[in-house]
Amino acid sequence: MQRFQCYIDGEFLDGEARYRSIDPATGKDWADMPEAREGDVDRAVNAAEKALYDGPWPKMTATQRGKLLYKLADLVAANAQKLAELETRDTGKIIRETSAQIAYVADYYRYYAGIADKIEGSYLPIDKQDMDVWLRREPIGVVAMVVPWNSQLFLSAVKIGPALAAGCTMVVKASEDGPAPLLEFARFVHEAGFPAGVLNIITGFGASCGAALSRHPKVAHVAFTGGPETARHIVRNSAENLASTSLELGGKSPFIVFADADLESAANAQVAGIFAATGQSCVAGSRLIVERSIKERFLGLLKDKAEAIRIGSPLDMATEVGPLATKRQQDHVTALIHKSVQSGAHIITGGQTPSGEGFYFPPTILDCDGVASPSLAEEFFGPVLSVVAFDTEAEALSLANDTRYGLASGVFTQNLTRAHRLMKGIRAGIVWVNTYRAVSPIAPFGGFGLSGHGREGGLAAALDYTRTKTIWLRT
Ligand code: NAD
Repeated sequence: MQRFQCYIDGEFLDGEARYRSIDPATGKDWADMPEAREGDVDRAVNAAEKALYDGPWPKMTATQRGKLLYKLADLVAANAQKLAELETRDTGKIIRETSAQIAYVADYYRYYAGIADKIEGSYLPIDKQDMDVWLRREPIGVVAMVVPWNSQLFLSAVKIGPALAAGCTMVVKASEDGPAPLLEFARFVHEAGFPAGVLNIITGFGASCGAALSRHPKVAHVAFTGGPETARHIVRNSAENLASTSLELGGKSPFIVFADADLESAANAQVAGIFAATGQSCVAGSRLIVERSIKERFLGLLKDKAEAIRIGSPLDMATEVGPLATKRQQDHVTALIHKSVQSGAHIITGGQTPSGEGFYFPPTILDCDGVASPSLAEEFFGPVLSVVAFDTEAEALSLANDTRYGLASGVFTQNLTRAHRLMKGIRAGIVWVNTYRAVSPIAPFGGFGLSGHGREGGLAAALDYTRTKTIWLRT
């Protein structure tokens, strides 16, 4: 059985307790993990605080910090296969996806390596002859990061990259469900030569380790990705110390298809938009809003494509949909389908929990047209698409905005004037037109409403990890 450790203050440690991580493809234990508790959290935060103010890190120039990030990016790229395999083994995310995503992870570190020496202060032209006034940008402080199991290397890169570029130090809590890739990543942080305590990586359970971290008095900012309910706990805990938060939460993203769209391309985007990562993606296009005149034809295309998807071992390069990450997740998807069918939703394909080992669930399409189905409001975080139809553009927009979330959205049409109206009208942090799921380190990413606040990606994300100091000098 593989064994992993926490990384605290430049050392690899066992953690106060241990637990077993489950392979989602078999449902059996496969790795022995450290479980950080309050004492480990305290040690890690103290190490981060010491590294922030003493030692080599605060004395480094921004260019030197950037060079360390470039080195980290190179190590991630050189060890991509190993990291991808660990992520696949521990979370069930298919190897095709983890291998492709790791390339972006290295790109994000490279992007923020280049940003490190572009975080500028400013000179203020105040109305006094004998006074010079500057704004200095300084690191915000010790940053705590808490992430869910899906895409942990990616979800952490979008926080670690900008925070280290800005000169912060960090304690990163990997999800207890699948921490292997982040714990292994710590080896490359060490090898890259970051000073001890700058980046500490631990794992443990949310209610103990995550809560202790988010309420720690020395934490200045909590960067969180996960569900809205956990976000409320984090905000309450961090409020005790008046720490700031950035929250990347769930979604129930609309995917609007007009009759004039290129239907083949829209269907491919919709299938990838909902079934990639077995639906465990915050931006999953989980509500199809389709023009009534093409509903049957479009659903026919989707059904054929969904039924042709190869389900299998996540470690097999040919597999297109793997298991869900946990039994809890499989039970949640099963229960929500059941509730939706009881409310009147009709299963077009899938919908049955398979027997056999592992936490599998087949690609599922639910026709919810004219039904108040809970599947239209609640996040499955699984491979389930809920479908409704519209007759007018106004109706499409109103259905798209009929959600408390507001992370992503997709619009498929050849009519660009209409696309522009929808871009403005949709209440979500991302609008993709005639494409879905495109990301770049340069483009900000984040949500409205229950999908959270704060943006990741771009220069602004690095500035969010700084605080300004106003300096007055009498000349
Ligand atoms: P979750 O909220 O249950 O857990 C996320 C993390 O929070 C885990 O590390 C967990 O240990 C920790 N945690 C749990 N309780 C805590 C507490 N009381 N205090 C502090 N930390 C605690 O989320 P999940 O179920 O693991 O992940 C799925 C959710 O994440 C979905 O809602 C999904 O949409 C969201 N997500 C959002 C994005 C985004 O970028 N917007 C990306 C991926 C996932």
